[in-house]
Amino acid sequence: MQTKFLLDENEIPKKWYNIQADLPTPLQPPLHPQTKKPIGPADLAPIFPMDLIMQEVSQEQYIPIPDEIRDILTLWRPSPLYRAHRLEKKLKTPAKIYYKYEGVSPPGSHKPNTAIAQAYYNMKAGIERIATETGAGQWGSALSFATELFDIDCTVYMVRGSYDQKPYRKMMMQAWGAECIPSPSPKTQSGRAILAKDPDTPGSLGIAISEAVEDAATHDNTNYALGSVLNHVCLHQTVIGMEAQEQLKAAEDEATVVVGCAGGGSNFAGLSFPFVRDNITKKNDTSIIAVEPAACPTLTKGLYAYDYGDVAGLTPILQMYTLGHDFIPASIHAGGLRYHGMAPLVSKLHAEGLIQATSCHQNEAFEAAVTFARSEGIIPAPETAHAIRVVIDKALECRTTGEEETILFNFSGHGHFDLSSYEMYFAGDLPDYEYPAELIKQSLANLPQVS
Ligand SMILES: *Cc1c(COP(=O)(O)O)cnc(C)c1O
Repeated sequence: MQTKFLLDENEIPKKWYNIQADLPTPLQPPLHPQTKKPIGPADLAPIFPMDLIMQEVSQEQYIPIPDEIRDILTLWRPSPLYRAHRLEKKLKTPAKIYYKYEGVSPPGSHKPNTAIAQAYYNMKAGIERIATETGAGQWGSALSFATELFDIDCTVYMVRGSYDQKPYRKMMMQAWGAECIPSPSPKTQSGRAILAKDPDTPGSLGIAISEAVEDAATHDNTNYALGSVLNHVCLHQTVIGMEAQEQLKAAEDEATVVVGCAGGGSNFAGLSFPFVRDNITKKNDTSIIAVEPAACPTLTKGLYAYDYGDVAGLTPILQMYTLGHDFIPASIHAGGLRYHGMAPLVSKLHAEGLIQATSCHQNEAFEAAVTFARSEGIIPAPETAHAIRVVIDKALECRTTGEEETILFNFSGHGHFDLSSYEMYFAGDLPDYEYPAELIKQSLANLPQVS
């Protein structure tokens, strides 16, 4: 009864998988925030290095991973694939459950897979500082870790709600040499505008993005980095799914269901895109499910439309599922899932019917997380808990139907720095937020007008 499936260092994938090559129709181009005309690589050059811009628009199916990046990935990759025997037993399910454990990275999530790549290409371009935003602090800590390894300074705008609730991630960023600023902040025009309207706002990812983009755009030596959503971020995460496929082979199994939580969509993309590829190119029939919070139901209740990536309307306009760029989600504890939009690539797959989406409330997510911790040991991040809820529900369904599904999910990160949310859950103090229909209706009325 094997539990853990490991690969050697030299089995870290040598190429990223670019799903743009296999889409039934290409993505619609991003539009300029002011002119609303399609933008080209030159428009992004003030905030991104050219290597990443070229990856953003690349139609090549595979893109080589530079050795310098693979060398650093060996610090924690290949990550283990586990068979959750004890969870299966607890659920009395005929289903098999596997999870790819991304919590083994130094910051504890999947995010350094792209942070290392982004820091590397910025270093090559001679950039001295990177500005970014962070929700729960996972991305900020991942980028701080990565920039430190390449000797680049890092400024992190952290969503105020999380800055107050989750001080440990702020300290991690300091340990890795970064500056962490609560957002909205008086440092930027976008921050000052929000503070003038609502001084007590908990902030949001959309606001923090505006601040970081503004910081990068107004300083020559400074670039911007995004921890999710963009094509190159999803690309860098595909090492997860490619490793998992090798590990499942070693386990002599094939996934029939693939599950990931989705905030901006990157960890879900990382695990699932190689499986979507096989559904498209080999006519496999794997069911692929993204799970989002009921309080921020982008794929399940949003519109597939052109929208800004941030609140202030500074970013390019992307075609994606969105709840409206000025929608500020309730302060749920899965801070990494509080984003109004969704990766254009994940959105496209959903619009084409190539993936499914579902949502759950935070209390049911925590309940699933505790069931997981009490059988498999690892305490999940609140974001990951959303995926686990759906995995457990599927496995329980199999108990009724007798179906023997093989379920694979992405364990996107551990919850060691989210224990205060567990404390609230155990005390019965976690609210479940109803679907904010009126707020979403209002913010969808403010989508940019494009022809
Ligand atoms: C950031 C984060 C997420 C959500 O971001 P995606 O881009 O949707 O993956 C999920 N889980 C963890 C642990 C995170 O840190």
